[in-house]
Amino acid sequence: MVSTKTLMQLCDKCGSKYLEENGVLVCSECGLEHLFSVRRSEDCVFRVCNLFIENKNIAKRIKENYGLDLFVYEKTLQLLCFAMLKKVPFQERGNISSFHLTVATAYVADNLFSKKANNTPVLTQKLVAEITKITKRSIRKSSKFLLKYEFEEIIFEMCKRLNWIEEEEELYKIPI
Ligand SMILES: [Zn+2]
Repeated sequence: MVSTKTLMQLCDKCGSKYLEENGVLVCSECGLEHLFSVRRSEDCVFRVCNLFIENKNIAKRIKENYGLDLFVYEKTLQLLCFAMLKKVPFQERGNISSFHLTVATAYVADNLFSKKANNTPVLTQKLVAEITKITKRSIRKSSKFLLKYEFEEIIFEMCKRLNWIEEEEELYKIPI
C-alpha cells in the first residue's frame, strides 16, 4: 500500500512529486523511478511461495494431500500466482498491500486447484496466517476480493498438466 507519507516524497532529481504508477513511484515531471518504491505483488511471488514450502507442516501436506514433489508444488504455485495476478489490474488492487495480495493469491490458488481435483487444500487459513503473520480475517478479505476475478481457465489448465483431471471432464471445457 502506498501511504500518504510516501506520496508526499519528492523526486531526487528535480524535486517534483512522485506519483504511483502500477505500484511503482514515478516522478510526475522527469519520470524518474523512486529507488525505494513500493514492490508489486508480482515481486513477492517467489518469496511467498518459498515461505510456504519451507514450513514443515506444509511440506508434509504437499506430499500427503497431493502426492507432489516439493519443487513441483513450488513451481506450480508460482505459475498460478503469476497467471492469476495478471488478471487483476493494478488500478483495481486498491489499498491491499502487495505482500498481502500475493499471500491471498497463493491461498486462493491452492484452494481452487485442490477443489478442482477433489483434494484437500494444503494452504489452510490457519497455516497461512501463522507463516505470514497476516490475520485470518485479512486473508479472508483479500481472498474475497480476488474471487471477483475469473480463474477457472488457469486452474483447469494446471490440473490438466498435473494429470489431475479425468479425460471426460475435458468435454465440458468452454472453447477459448
Ligand atoms: Zn523528477
